[in-house]
Amino acid sequence: MIKEEVIIIGAGPCGLSTAIELQRKGFEPLILEKNNVANSIFHYPTHQTFFSSSEKLEVGDFPFISERQKPQRNEALTYYRMVAERSKVRIQSYETVTNVSEVNGEYLVHSETDKGKENIYSAKYVVFATGYYGQPNELDVEGENLPHVSHYFKEAHPFFNQDVVIVGGKNSAVDAAIELEKAGANVTVLYRGSEYSKSVKPWILPVFDSLVKNGKISMLFDVSIEKITTENVFYDQNGVKADIHADFVFAMIGYHPNKTFLMDLGVTIDEESGRPYVNPDTMETNTNNIYISGVIAAGYNNNEIFIENGRYHGKLIADSIANKQEAGEVNG
Ligand code: FAD
Ligand code: NAP
Repeated sequence: MIKEEVIIIGAGPCGLSTAIELQRKGFEPLILEKNNVANSIFHYPTHQTFFSSSEKLEVGDFPFISERQKPQRNEALTYYRMVAERSKVRIQSYETVTNVSEVNGEYLVHSETDKGKENIYSAKYVVFATGYYGQPNELDVEGENLPHVSHYFKEAHPFFNQDVVIVGGKNSAVDAAIELEKAGANVTVLYRGSEYSKSVKPWILPVFDSLVKNGKISMLFDVSIEKITTENVFYDQNGVKADIHADFVFAMIGYHPNKTFLMDLGVTIDEESGRPYVNPDTMETNTNNIYISGVIAAGYNNNEIFIENGRYHGKLIADSIANKQEAGEVNG
């Protein structure tokens, strides 16, 4: 058993920010990360440009200078690696947390490294900063698991001259459609909404809409997907059944956090929104000494917490843990 004071699960921007804030309060938190620093950003589309300007992605007051106002994915990866290096926060990469349980007021954190080694830690405080990007939402239709169907888009080149169907109508769907069209794919977007979503960024929508108006991208509204086969996507549009040929399908329908660990620890999760109960002043859940940081706090809504605002959770958590320690309110 390895004894720790604070364990943070996840080395995304919000886990990193929490670790730095705790460090500044005199703690030596340990981050366990299943892959490596900023793993979600690593899995973004290769040529992704952020919506946020670089200073809004800064954590721990480390300056983020980018060539243009809004940085590219690669610049953000460089930045978060630099933050990890300069802050000297303790990160164990390629170590997945598999279970967290409570025993006599302490938490047992079980993990497994990518080499198959199992570790058990005991910690007074555990912070979940596990994000949502590892768990794509599902259409729940036949054929969704076929090899030509994906919930992640990386690059457009392999889809030149291919019939590509994109499901969804927010930023990932629209971004992918624009990039795919540019690379010569025949793109159709199937969206369940009746009009463009208000969430699509105002500087992206005109580009997309002009491609639709010029017949470069087909955009269908009010569509419900019924089935995917190796050749076609079957759908219902306003009660009319139809199908379209698809060599590849991108179901860009959002992501959701993994709630299992929190539920096992007795954290209340709102069934409809997927939001864990959290004190907004401290980010502590209704389970003593269990905290959450980052987008996991938003439940199913991918458009509520971003790096821009989730990066401030760390300071609240560090203040709360420091106050508890000072008050001698420590279990065990
Ligand atoms: P994440 O960054 O998802 O980090 C969670 C970490 O936990 C990951 O590294 C993961 O590997 C690790 N993890 C998960 N489970 C375990 C486990 N069991 N054991 C160990 N480690 C685990 N936000 C903005 O503010 N501005 C933008 O412009 C912007 N652009 C975006 C573009 C795209 C394409 C996408 C998909 C998102 C964008 N976002 C943007 C949202 C942003 O990516 C998230 O808000 C941010 O990543 C959340 O940070 P986080 O630290 O909460 O979670
Ligand atoms: P999202 O914002 O959750 O959008 C999901 C889309 O899929 C919505 O249009 C939704 O419909 C639709 N949908 C959800 N479930 C569905 C189902 N079962 N069947 C059919 N359609 C379904 O997900 P996202 O676009 O992947 O974005 C994820 C996060 O990444 C967001 O925070 C976003 O801001 C961010 N992002 C940022 C950038 C950038 O910075 N450049 C680019 C892309 C994404 P409704 O519209 O009806 O809800």
